[in-house]
Amino acid sequence: MAKRKPVVAGNWKMNTSKEEANQLSTEIISQVNNAQAEVLLFPPFVYLSELGQKQNDYVAIGAQNFHPETKGAFTGEISLSMLESIGIRYVLIGHSERRTIFNESDDFLAKKVDRALLSNFSPVFCCGEPLSVRETGNPMEFVNNQLTDSLFHLQADQAQRLILAYEPIWAIGTGLTASPQQAQEMHASIRQHLAKKWGEQTAHSIRILYGGSVKPANAKELFSQPDVDGGLVGGASLKADSFMEIIKAAE
Ligand code: PEP
Repeated sequence: MAKRKPVVAGNWKMNTSKEEANQLSTEIISQVNNAQAEVLLFPPFVYLSELGQKQNDYVAIGAQNFHPETKGAFTGEISLSMLESIGIRYVLIGHSERRTIFNESDDFLAKKVDRALLSNFSPVFCCGEPLSVRETGNPMEFVNNQLTDSLFHLQADQAQRLILAYEPIWAIGTGLTASPQQAQEMHASIRQHLAKKWGEQTAHSIRILYGGSVKPANAKELFSQPDVDGGLVGGASLKADSFMEIIKAAE
């Protein structure tokens, strides 16, 4: 079966000034080349239009959020057709901060996935367990349920268009990282779960990124695990040097 091309995505969250966003994206885009991982940058909304114009074959710009309805009375929200009109084709869905701070449910996330696929966007769908489940529960079952509830209504050809990101909540922004063994164990379990639904070939083709305090110092070992196909990076994606080191670790 074909080798999966790694993906390294930077989630800038609610960070960077306009000048910083411009400088950071320029520094990254000027250094990434064909031999490396596919690179995705998720800056804040207000910079998407400007940064979208800098996209090339190796670096794409994506949106951290959108609303699944096409238009109407949704004050403060952004639709996919608006994003499409400024050249954006990637969206994050199901980040734990959207799930917990903004109460996005599995059902709502399923609607976002449907709308993204229907509109020909590439969704990066996040999943991951809280610390309480890691310590005393069944993290694999927890993550499998998240995937089942928001994705298992899809057909195999739709599922193939997803990128998944496993992000244990206890490792996001905390400096704690899943060990390479913990990450591999979860990624293999996710792939097995996907295979039960859509078959081995589809499961094999879907990229599963690891996220949660990925840094230049731990990226290589995490990305060298057989089922880890790159990373979704928060804090360390805000400095071009550290993000470039992480991109190089995925080669
Ligand atoms: C994230 O925001 O998806 C993330 C993984 O953040 P950090 O790398 O800072 O833990």
